[in-house]
Amino acid sequence: MSDQDSLPAKSARRLLAWSLGPCVPAWAVLLALYGLERLTWVEALVSAALVFVLMAVLVFARLADFERLIRYAEALFNNPETPAPPIFTSATAQRLLTALNALRRLWTERRDEAQVLARSRQDILDCLPDPLLLLDKQRRVIEANQAAQILLERGLTGLDLASVIRDPKVLEAADAALREDRRTETQFTLTTPVERTFGALLVPLKTPVKDGTALILALQEQTERLKMDRMRADFVANASHELRTPLTAVLGFIETLRGAAKDDAEAREQFLDIMLKQATRMTRLIDDLLSLSRIEMREHARPTEAVDLGNVLRGTADLLDTQAKQKRCEIRIDVPATLPRAIGDASELGQVVFNLAANAIKYGGEGGPVELSAALVPVRPLSMPGQGPCLKIAVRDYGEGIAKEHLPRLTERFYRVDTARSRELGGTGLGLAIVKHITNRHRGALVIESEVGKGSTFSVYLPIASS
Ligand code: ADP
Repeated sequence: MSDQDSLPAKSARRLLAWSLGPCVPAWAVLLALYGLERLTWVEALVSAALVFVLMAVLVFARLADFERLIRYAEALFNNPETPAPPIFTSATAQRLLTALNALRRLWTERRDEAQVLARSRQDILDCLPDPLLLLDKQRRVIEANQAAQILLERGLTGLDLASVIRDPKVLEAADAALREDRRTETQFTLTTPVERTFGALLVPLKTPVKDGTALILALQEQTERLKMDRMRADFVANASHELRTPLTAVLGFIETLRGAAKDDAEAREQFLDIMLKQATRMTRLIDDLLSLSRIEMREHARPTEAVDLGNVLRGTADLLDTQAKQKRCEIRIDVPATLPRAIGDASELGQVVFNLAANAIKYGGEGGPVELSAALVPVRPLSMPGQGPCLKIAVRDYGEGIAKEHLPRLTERFYRVDTARSRELGGTGLGLAIVKHITNRHRGALVIESEVGKGSTFSVYLPIASS
């Protein structure tokens, strides 16, 4: 029987087959009667034909029901929404139809569940902040989440991993994970549009997935962490170096005082003076390091006091009075009669103004006065979070100024324009880093403007405390 047979031909054959079976016992009886010569062969044949026709009529009505059921079941394959056929005669066919309908409902439910599951799987993948790719056994991308599409800037489905991440280490790790059925890890760097380093974790799937997914590739950006590690290592190296220099000097003078200069009273006085300076420098450095670490530890917690900035400026000016007088530098203060308070920590803001004003005296004081001012400004700078008015503290000097290329790096720890000069003036190279951290903790902004030969203005913007 070929598959190309038409439906009526199939039905006719089924009718024939289904009708013949039940005729067999009656035909056997007729054959026996003919054998016993109770019937002539004509009577036997006519009776056999009559039996067949009777059976065919009886079977046909039932067969039509089953025929409809078969067609219904076949149609369900392609379209689960196919309407159920009417059943006229057979109770068995009716039961079959009920069972088929139950199956159809189950199947539709499962299909809907599978669709919801597929959609939520995509949603879950897209919610993940890190890029994720699902790969098949040939390392082709089956699916990629939104983060991966954004990172790799294109549609990825169907592409070979080699054309998605052109790094042999990642391809080797993927091959090893598939070949040896174990998770592998590696690191790679994307160079465009900016250099970014990622960790790649490759996990083969234990249970095969129908869509062909055999391997999960999860990427995690490590650029920031590596930068922090480098900064930390640099910081430790710099801090040790900064401490070692005065310490070596002090040890050298101790040696000299115990030996060659043992009985030289004048040299002793001179050396003790230098030792005091170096020890003071070490103390300042340690104080600054401790301040920095204290501020860093609290950086996530916003201060809550309402601070009068006028008091902060006046208090700092008093503290720096002697230093300013030594440089014959006048400290001018300009604060409006009424100024809203800032949200802040008074002692930290005092440290900010102290560091900025001390620098202004150190590096610019000889060129003219140092001006400390506080004011309400209608618009906050772009680098400050939020919108609307804010408060501004400005420390201005008319000294040597700072060349443009140094400005972006001034707040890095131990960054100095002129290291020898900073040391000579008692600088630690941490003053502006402390200012920056305190400003960050206050959710404010630090803006540095400077012109070589004309002076510098360091402005700290702060949020206003609600009345
Ligand atoms: P330091 O302890 O060296 O002063 P800071 O972090 O306070 O460290 O400042 C970093 C560098 O910025 C200084 O070494 C100096 O070169 C430069 N600098 C800071 N303030 C001024 C200023 N008002 N005028 C000129 N240069 C300044």
